[in-house]
Amino acid sequence: MAQISLTFPDNSVREFDAGVSTLAVAKSIASSLAKKAVAGELNGTMVDIEQPLNQDGNFKIFTTDDVEGLQVLRNTAAFVLGAAIKKLHADVHFGEHQANDDGFYLDTDRAAGQIAISELPEIKKAMQKIISANQPIERQLVDKTELLETFKDDPYQESLVKAIDSVQIAVYQLGDYISFGDRALLKTMAPLKHFELLSVAGAYWQGKSSNPMLQRIYGTAFFKAADLEADLKRRAEIKERDHRTIGRDLDIFFVDPEVGAGLPYWMPNGATVRRVIERYIIDKEVANGYQHVYTPVLANLNLYKTSGHWAHYREDMFPPMDMGDGEFLELRPMNCPSHIQIYNHHNRSYRELPVRIAELGMMHRYEKSGALSGLQRVREMTLNDGHTFLAPDQIKEEFKSVLKMMMEVYDDFNITDYTFRLSYRDPANTEKYFDDDEMWNNAQSMLKSAMDDLGLDYYEAEGEAAFYGPKLDVQTKTALGGEETMSTIQLDFMMPEKFDLVYTGADGQEHRPVMMHRGIVGTMERFIAYLMEMYKGAFPTWLAPTQVEIIPVNLDLHSDYAKDIQKQMAAKGLRVKLDLRNEKMGYKIREAQTQKIPYTLVVGDQELADQTVSVRRYGEKDAADEPLKEFIESTEADVANYSRV
Ligand code: ATP
Ligand code: ZN
Repeated sequence: MAQISLTFPDNSVREFDAGVSTLAVAKSIASSLAKKAVAGELNGTMVDIEQPLNQDGNFKIFTTDDVEGLQVLRNTAAFVLGAAIKKLHADVHFGEHQANDDGFYLDTDRAAGQIAISELPEIKKAMQKIISANQPIERQLVDKTELLETFKDDPYQESLVKAIDSVQIAVYQLGDYISFGDRALLKTMAPLKHFELLSVAGAYWQGKSSNPMLQRIYGTAFFKAADLEADLKRRAEIKERDHRTIGRDLDIFFVDPEVGAGLPYWMPNGATVRRVIERYIIDKEVANGYQHVYTPVLANLNLYKTSGHWAHYREDMFPPMDMGDGEFLELRPMNCPSHIQIYNHHNRSYRELPVRIAELGMMHRYEKSGALSGLQRVREMTLNDGHTFLAPDQIKEEFKSVLKMMMEVYDDFNITDYTFRLSYRDPANTEKYFDDDEMWNNAQSMLKSAMDDLGLDYYEAEGEAAFYGPKLDVQTKTALGGEETMSTIQLDFMMPEKFDLVYTGADGQEHRPVMMHRGIVGTMERFIAYLMEMYKGAFPTWLAPTQVEIIPVNLDLHSDYAKDIQKQMAAKGLRVKLDLRNEKMGYKIREAQTQKIPYTLVVGDQELADQTVSVRRYGEKDAADEPLKEFIESTEADVANYSRV
């Protein structure tokens, strides 16, 4: 019999009869390994545990302990999900499926209306039935032409088959459910015990917004019950923090894809939070020597040709508007060229430097529709932007002072979980990064030495720099476990060249300034999404849309006192709401809590007589009486000090 030789990860080589299975190989090593083995990998291709091996090559065995093992389990779960849906609804077409670190999904398209979340329990039951029947999933190799014939009435599967570049395709079958593609599935369904169907969401066929919308069904699966339990707990926590849920529940914002994907509408509550932050940051910057300006979101396309955006950043830009008279207008993707106009509008002397221009600048970026997410990634955004024009010998000092301001801001918002990332160019990528070794090396080492001077920890990321220069990014963690850039300080030696920026030096000669781009809180959109997640919607008093809600015990007897309190507090700039609806008091108090209002005041006979209020803080069960005057003063102090309550 022909022999094959398998090379194991430890480089040992062993001979087997051709046609041996992964399971048999595992058994020959140890019976404990065979028990845990779920699939193999030969020369980079996953193989089922009983699939015959007919080639020499590098070989691995995956077990229930490996991420690849988990992938096999989840692929099997996605397969069983498809089989269960097929049993329940013969009219469903299937799109793509995937198993990944986060679980698995399967795209479905039902003619009679998409599968709803309320149907998941029934589908899960059908899956469990299939699993306990434990019939083997049959695997065979089928000719591509034959498979095309099988799927001739199924446009999604047909086009997936067409895209495969091989004569024979591995097909898995259970009853009349057929699924194909390179992946390994479990031989027996017994290990598929701990799984859950999680959610449904619309997903465009193959991710293109011009294609039909299918319904994606998400689930997850684990080998151990405890792992599933921990994962579900983590998901519940994420859901509680998800800014899109909070944004809806607290009426902060909405995005309506019918009106414009990635173009958020700020409801009064969200607008209030945003206005408070905008005022805060403008005041902070003005106090730090910035001059705030307003510049247009539209400019002649030539501006972005000169800046280099059109050459290097075009795919993130909206297409130009052809005005029909030879003029092309462009929605700006960045504010830098606008601030350059401001700098250039006057002759500048070395005595003025650094010139710090700042703006809450609205910009538009054509983000991919699949990447859009609530306020976190949008297509219209307002950046807390600033550009400093300075002499080369001022870079280090300025960099340090921006960092200092940044950390003060973080402290006011109680943001503590962040890391620094120094981003360099990738020297090999000359298409993205303009070619000037000396400038890159200089600028990169300058930032590095400033960070070292300040004794701050950072990591270095090659290939993450902007096309015009290196940068320092401040990375924060999102509730969903991702990492995102909040603040950024970027050095730029290129744009001053392109726009021929100059200042008159002490020597009376013209010199080239350096430009520093910086954002402290980033875009209003992403920053507020972040804050919603960090605070779980319970904004500290200074940011809360409504800071105080007043509930009269008896509408007839106590409304006037409540109105009087509102008037006094509003006069101090506090945001106070009265609840004069004809509802039970307990109901109103509970509602104020779900709206996460920092203070709920209840006023009745006693409070009116004593000129006090009964104060309940958000999240606390008990209320306490306080003299009205004291309450107003302490709330004002909370706001003034950016208190964390
Ligand atoms: P990303 O890598 O997230 O796309 P970027 O590196 O392109 O961001 P910059 O050009 O440095 O971002 O933009 C400045 C700031 O704008 C970022 O720090 C980020 O906070 C924010 N930002 C960028 N793109 C978006 C977006 N699509 N929606 C909301 N905020 C954004
Ligand atoms: Zn800029």
